[in-house]
Amino acid sequence: MDAIMPTYGRYDLAFERGEGAYVFTADGDRYLDCGAGIAVNALGHGHPALVSALQEQAGKLWHTSNLYQVPGQQKLADRLTALTFADTVFFTNSGAEACECAIKTARKYMSATGQPERYRLITVEGAFHGRTLATIAAGGQEKHLAGFGPKVDGFDQVPVDDLEAIKNAITDETAGVMIEPIQGEGGIRPFKPDYLRGLRKLCDDNGLLLIFDEVQTGVGRTGTLFAYEQTGIAPDIMAVAKGIGGGFPMGACLATQDAAQGMTAGSHGSTFGGNPLAMAVGNAVLDVVTAPGFLTQVKETARTLRQQLGAVIDSHPTVYKGLRGEGLMIGIECAALNADVVAALLDEKVLAVGAGENVVRLLPPLTIGEAEVSEAIAALDRAATTLESKSE
Ligand SMILES: *Cc1c(COP(=O)(O)O)cnc(C)c1O
Repeated sequence: MDAIMPTYGRYDLAFERGEGAYVFTADGDRYLDCGAGIAVNALGHGHPALVSALQEQAGKLWHTSNLYQVPGQQKLADRLTALTFADTVFFTNSGAEACECAIKTARKYMSATGQPERYRLITVEGAFHGRTLATIAAGGQEKHLAGFGPKVDGFDQVPVDDLEAIKNAITDETAGVMIEPIQGEGGIRPFKPDYLRGLRKLCDDNGLLLIFDEVQTGVGRTGTLFAYEQTGIAPDIMAVAKGIGGGFPMGACLATQDAAQGMTAGSHGSTFGGNPLAMAVGNAVLDVVTAPGFLTQVKETARTLRQQLGAVIDSHPTVYKGLRGEGLMIGIECAALNADVVAALLDEKVLAVGAGENVVRLLPPLTIGEAEVSEAIAALDRAATTLESKSE
């Protein structure tokens, strides 16, 4: 057996270094990175501000533990709460842990407000919330649950875009609803415009908590700092990770003061969560993403990319079918097999990522410019032509 536990089917391809939107193999082959490590390298590779933040912190202090004050953590929490609906933040090392903290926060709220029997969360089909035992139960996908014993109790799954189904799933044991504002792994699936607002109202009317999983949609990916800003409503609890560390492993669970009232000293913890290295990088990422004009530029780039994508998709109807998503969280619906499209793009030296519903995801660094957009479009065009000639 391979020394690396073979839980991934990997491409036979390794990278040695990165620069901006490009990664390079040891042989010097250059690839345009339109996957960004699955929406992680939000500022591309080797961003000077991130490199120097990490180097500077590495020379000072790596880790002390949450037994002590961590100034970088205080700073990042103050900034995130000022920028969002939230009043308080718990830092984690990953998206699954951020979701896990969100789930625990919701359950603890109910227990702290005298309703300990309310511990169940409603989730939707096609969801992805991570790979821990609780988050695979939340995601409810058989392919992730199979063989791992009894599913963690406390999650009820309903079809997407169906408020009536949510309403019918609410019982005396329901604590809240957990949902991605746009499903990522599920295939860049946005919801009907009124669905999330309807969810907010349902939660309010029934004393339930609304949890948004913005692990993939967050930190500028959809053109606003967080996707919920475009919905006209806000959640009570939000999980964030991926882009927030720009490639350094970190995540966060944000909540309102009310929703977090059960999370008192000793209720939750993490050895590494919020350590000085992660916080130095997290603060540097936020500096860039919140700088004047940055998100406007993301929206503009997204508009240009989408326009040109529309034309490529139309001219290859046997390979591409349609376009979904928001900002630089882009899903190309495929007529061909999405894995074949990803492989054909790889031959054109462009990295893209598959997703559910036969979609190919483009999640480029938020910093890409016109040159990279044109290069991606040309590669999509050539990849389609190759696939067309193969199927003739
Ligand atoms: C990636 C992802 C997760 C899990 O994050 P990990 O860092 O892999 O644990 C959870 N939710 C969503 C929406 C994601 O895209």
